Amino acid sequence: MNVPESGPAAPQASSAQHERAAELRRLLNRAAHAYYVLDAPLMEDAVYDRLYRELLDLETAQPELLSQDSPSQRVGGSPAEGFSSVRHRIGLLSLDNAFSVEELEAWYGRLLKVLDRAAAADQPPPALAMVCELKIDGNALALSYEHGVLVRAATRGDGEQGEEITANVRTIASVPLRLELQDPPAWLEVRGEALIPDATFAAINAERQARGEALFANPRNACAGTLRQLDPKVVASRRLDFFAYTLHLPEGWTATGADPAAPTSQWQVLQWLAAVGFRVNPKATLCPDLAAVETFFADWQERRKGLDYATDGVVVKLDDLRLQDEAGFTQKAPRWAIALKYAAEEAPSHLLRLVMQVGRTGVVTPVAEFEPVPLAGTMVGRATLHNADRLAELDLHAGDTIVVRKAGEIIPEVVRVLAELRPAGAKPLQLPDVCPECGSSLVREAGEAATRCVNSSCPAILRGSLRHWVSKGALDVDGLGSKLIGLLVDRGLVRRIADLYRLDGALLASLDRLGEKSAANLVAALEASRRQSWPRQLFGLGIHHVGEVNAKALARAFPSAAQLASAATESAELITAIHGIGAEIAQSLQQWFNTAANQELLKDLETLGFSLASEPPDPASSGEPLADHLAGQTFVLTGTLPSLSRSQAQALIEAAGGKVSGSVSKKTSYVVAGDEAGSKLTKAESLGVAVLDEAGLRQLLAAD
Ligand code: NAD
Repeated sequence: MNVPESGPAAPQASSAQHERAAELRRLLNRAAHAYYVLDAPLMEDAVYDRLYRELLDLETAQPELLSQDSPSQRVGGSPAEGFSSVRHRIGLLSLDNAFSVEELEAWYGRLLKVLDRAAAADQPPPALAMVCELKIDGNALALSYEHGVLVRAATRGDGEQGEEITANVRTIASVPLRLELQDPPAWLEVRGEALIPDATFAAINAERQARGEALFANPRNACAGTLRQLDPKVVASRRLDFFAYTLHLPEGWTATGADPAAPTSQWQVLQWLAAVGFRVNPKATLCPDLAAVETFFADWQERRKGLDYATDGVVVKLDDLRLQDEAGFTQKAPRWAIALKYAAEEAPSHLLRLVMQVGRTGVVTPVAEFEPVPLAGTMVGRATLHNADRLAELDLHAGDTIVVRKAGEIIPEVVRVLAELRPAGAKPLQLPDVCPECGSSLVREAGEAATRCVNSSCPAILRGSLRHWVSKGALDVDGLGSKLIGLLVDRGLVRRIADLYRLDGALLASLDRLGEKSAANLVAALEASRRQSWPRQLFGLGIHHVGEVNAKALARAFPSAAQLASAATESAELITAIHGIGAEIAQSLQQWFNTAANQELLKDLETLGFSLASEPPDPASSGEPLADHLAGQTFVLTGTLPSLSRSQAQALIEAAGGKVSGSVSKKTSYVVAGDEAGSKLTKAESLGVAVLDEAGLRQLLAAD
């Protein structure tokens, strides 16, 4: 436990702090019982750890909040019933946790202070050797040997008393029943971690599922459950493993004969244990200083995923046993060791507010904003709640404590609410009845999950449509980001897509975020976008269900907006005849083309010079359709071309029947290189592939 150093008296804790501490104590105690005694956790470990840390922080800041029933006052859980409980000769403590390298460094700083070795402010901290061991997600066992023979095995329990499970531990093949010592002491104790390999864990859960029993949440709970099996045969069948890491020898014991000498460091302890017959985790490493510890920790971040057992961090132990003695213990844990944990993918947080996002199709998405928490290596403060149903399912209330998850690259989500920590009288949260942007009534169609704003001039919908219109796969307008779009809409300068094309450089340059040069570039980019191909224009319209692929297929079958509109409104079967296009899309097209505002939009675009159709073949060309003369040729684009964007160049090549690929090989016909062309150009030169500049490409496109 972190005991505050005596200093100026802290102000009295507020009643809200008293209440929060009491809630946390209740919840954590219930969770610890479920976890340690029932082997059926109520919450994720990372969530438990974070709430536990919150309680510790409260107790440290306000020592009056500390009470006897606080989980910070004890180790683990009480022994389970069904086994006789035994008192440990030497208490089995817990480990303090560090959740970041900064916390590890703070621990090291405290350790140096306790050992009276803190460096002067301008000096680097002195280096102490430390042993790094993987923190295996198993269960600590205490094994007593008398005259070299295993006589008793016990779980950690509450650290003072554990359960006696000797018969079960005898079934673990890697626990020696007799030590390889010629002259063993009358008594010694070895501690280590019993574990269940991942494959066995999966098999146990599969069996439990088949029997309709509750599943174990993690290998540690499965291992604890197995160790508490009343039938040792079942334990034997589960093939537990054991890694030894701690040794207690009688004071003053010295080895005789060929027996290994009593260790003086943790590194020697591991070797001693291996020499007398224990399995010691082969990944343990002796590190000369803190930098080496940090490298070990970083190194195992990914590598641990390839092990066949679960680990959740690295245990860092001061190597020198004499210094360990000097550093001593807090009430719950040694000062000379720390468990450095890997970034959690789940954590609790406080809901700050629920905001509503209105997308370009009018769909209203509730988004939770919460106190930012580190998750899987990044700070996360927002998560989508998808729709009204998910919101109701979560039963979210104002001020709730929520559990947030971000596994790997996945988008953050709110997993559930910890209703036990809900403030009294908190109001339930729901989707509003009216659009937060324009105030018009929201609509939810029967059978649809989404709630929508159907006001087509809603500024949120307009912003979304503009963002989509200028996006990469659509009209690909460089220099028109979300912020600028927001500004143009807010100032009333853009009320529809067509307005973008009426903006002039001087007006744009007068906006605070744009210089003259960027304003001119933007006008040029908008100008160039008028020549984008029909499939891109169609995709840019943002019709529901018409993504890039469908837009291409539709544009191929209907070479103009007029043809597509007449099919959509009069003969839907022509549309559904296209491979991959179904009734839902046909219906969406019909609705779109029947909407007056959309007909207006098409007219607007035509007036602005958009083709809304595939370009007709060039009448000056020699009869053969242009679309084929680069057929069979593969191009690779690299660097910045003087006037064409990558996607424009790609569109021109594809329109002439050529293919564009991302990498250069012997089969590449041409590499088109612009400014700052990189390795692709070098590779083309080394393979002898023809290299073109933009002018060369244009010549090729014009030739037939
Ligand atoms: P701990 O697991 O953080 O650390 C101590 C334990 O680490 C030791 O007892 C030992 O079993 C293990 N360990 C693994 N490798 C080791 C090594 N090389 N050297 C030394 N020890 C090693 O602390 P704890 O007090 O056992 O329990 C806290 C843990 O239990 C936390 O991770 C917490 O999330 C979890 N817990 C979860 C819930 C829940 O509801 N999910 C409830 C209570 C506790």
